[in-house]
Amino acid sequence: METPLTPLEFARRTRKLYGDRVGVVDGDLGLTYEQFFDRCDRWSSALQGMGVRKGDRVAYIAPNTHQQLESFYAVPQIGAVLVPINFRLTAEDFVYIANHSGASVLCVHPDYVGAIEGVRSQLETVKHVVVLGDEYEAALSRAKPAFQRPEIDENDLLALNYTSGTTAKPKGVMITHRNAWMNVMDTLVHFHITVDDVYLWTLPMFHANGWTFVWIITAVGGRHICLPKVEPARVFDLIRSEKVGWLCAAPTVLISLANAPADVRGDVPRGVHVVTAGAPPAAATIERLEGEFGWEVTQVYGLTETSPFLTICEPRPEHRSLSASELAVIKARTGVEMIGAGELRVVDENGADVPADGQTLGEIVHRGNVILKGYYNDPEATEKVMGDGWFHTGDAAVVHPDGYVEIRDRIKDVIISGGENISSIEVEGVLLRHPAVQEAAIVGLPHEKWGEAPFAYVVLKPGATATEAELIAFTRERLAHFKAPHGVTFVAELPKTATGKIQKFVLRKGAAAIVRQ
Ligand code: AMP
Repeated sequence: METPLTPLEFARRTRKLYGDRVGVVDGDLGLTYEQFFDRCDRWSSALQGMGVRKGDRVAYIAPNTHQQLESFYAVPQIGAVLVPINFRLTAEDFVYIANHSGASVLCVHPDYVGAIEGVRSQLETVKHVVVLGDEYEAALSRAKPAFQRPEIDENDLLALNYTSGTTAKPKGVMITHRNAWMNVMDTLVHFHITVDDVYLWTLPMFHANGWTFVWIITAVGGRHICLPKVEPARVFDLIRSEKVGWLCAAPTVLISLANAPADVRGDVPRGVHVVTAGAPPAAATIERLEGEFGWEVTQVYGLTETSPFLTICEPRPEHRSLSASELAVIKARTGVEMIGAGELRVVDENGADVPADGQTLGEIVHRGNVILKGYYNDPEATEKVMGDGWFHTGDAAVVHPDGYVEIRDRIKDVIISGGENISSIEVEGVLLRHPAVQEAAIVGLPHEKWGEAPFAYVVLKPGATATEAELIAFTRERLAHFKAPHGVTFVAELPKTATGKIQKFVLRKGAAAIVRQ
């Protein structure tokens, strides 16, 4: 017997077993799972009333609210395809994604209604714009909770997740019900999250479907705490008041928590489990969160295209005897294949595995059940990224002798100086060990003698001081001299995407101007 592998199955079970438990908290509002799923059913029914049928696309522009969480059930359970849009994009991007996906309904949080009103005439396929406030609530109370549940095949599309599009137009990553189910199950094999657990939404739900935690937490009957805006004071307050045990966050969010002043932080409860990915976390950040806060930080890695998780930096018994700082160095590695994700290799330009020497760079390629179905309406891009039967990540990594993979750069960001590779991540990791440094980014700039040379952009901690010469000397003491930055520019903040990636192309552009002067 076969039933489709779909995360909707978790909703069915949790409603039956945990219907009377509070499953979702959003500000003052608390919803039991029964109330939450009743709202989802009503919205499904309302969408069908608007003519949404199986395969149709329904787009959302919303921060982490309970309405956004409802979309992950209400839309797929009628066989429609969810398009969660990054709310920090521009109005032109909203138009591009809505049109490219062919969305017929666009649901918008009140904060983004102004942006959409200005471009309403450019939306080619959207028939209904629904404001996720009073209008949505009125539709829910009018709708009957009964809706028509179509047959769903596990290979049907569940979501179109648009890539951040920093260098090209965003691409629609086709994630199937099966892809998402695999990622949920695989994550639950590695992380022992239970019905007692409370999860805080510090990760945007639009980012690769909140790394599938929109379904993971529901699957175990745990509690979602919605958080529309990540501010350290609010995060620490909620951790205390809601007894939060789990959160996911990009390293940039962890840096802001780790460096929050004592009056913002207050007492920090110990034992919070942190899952981090999206960019490489620095050993210094991990050491601080584990050593000073008593939290447990685990790094995972993946892409929107891979549902998203591929690796976990899995702890081993032999790690237990390491000192806190040695352990943080291990934990800063990208990790090993997750049990259910499939096969990961690091290969050279000819497709041969690189030696496990911790030095030779190659590209991470992968095959398995979490790989996207393809890019929506873009067979060329699909062919390019997975045409040879392996999904090419574009991430440059080394393999350590113990088999742990460590990402050193995006392939296009690798710095080649005098014929030697320099990992910007390695140099950034050293700078982050300096007591005055809050954030650092290394970019390669053209250099007459070396071809390219590393330059640093640094954000100092509030009230801290350091000079360019001091930071260069600090890295030269700890790294081969050719890896040390040739210059340091102090900035108030680094340009970042909404998902916490430093936009190195922006820095390179600005830097070229500085060097010319
Ligand atoms: P996205 O599709 O927006 O989630 O971005 C995926 C990219 O984020 C990957 O290709 C990596 O470059 C980066 N990334 C994600 N997780 C990690 C990690 N643990 N360490 C280093 N880079 C990461």
